[in-house]
Amino acid sequence: ETRVGVLALQGDVREHLAVLRELGAEGIPVRRPSELDEVAGLIIPGGESSVIDKLSRLFGMAEPIKARIAAGMPVYGTCAGLIMLADTVLDAIGGQESFGGLDVAVRRNAFGNQNDSFETDIAIPELGEVPVHAVFIRAPVVESVGEKATVLASLADGRVVAVEQGNLLGTSFHPEVTGEHRFHERFLQKVRSLA
Ligand code: GLN
Repeated sequence: ETRVGVLALQGDVREHLAVLRELGAEGIPVRRPSELDEVAGLIIPGGESSVIDKLSRLFGMAEPIKARIAAGMPVYGTCAGLIMLADTVLDAIGGQESFGGLDVAVRRNAFGNQNDSFETDIAIPELGEVPVHAVFIRAPVVESVGEKATVLASLADGRVVAVEQGNLLGTSFHPEVTGEHRFHERFLQKVRSLA
């Protein structure tokens, strides 16, 4: 079985490791470059993107992750993880940076204080007939989609909340907390197709 990593600097790492376990995949927490070398794919969890950014630079992880993304490693980012994968981050805190890779601009905390968190069902025909039950927590929105990226899901009002580009996958919401496994399966398929 191919080993995949969950970036374990901050955020809901355990929930992602649990999904991987349920899918029969070998998942390990990744904190240092030597651990990144041992995985064929990476999940960037939800949490706080400005903290993940800071810690990734402090731990010498930012450059190795950017290099692996450029080399085609499959990466799946949820919420803060999607922000880390976006080429452009709007409403970034201070000098916040992202790893980039996805040809999109993402706005942090796009749903505002009145609507900090909410749940909704989204039809995503590409994943099958059963709609995705999506949980949004201080979630970002994909505000513009460049020509290299593809929209995978949008809300009824048209706001884009899931995107894909080659081996990169990002969702504004958190499948790892609802028992929704199809995004992780899609990520694992990308990993296995490279093995
Ligand atoms: N608001 C957080 C950020 O900007 C993301 C929240 C989440 O991951 N649930 O990173």
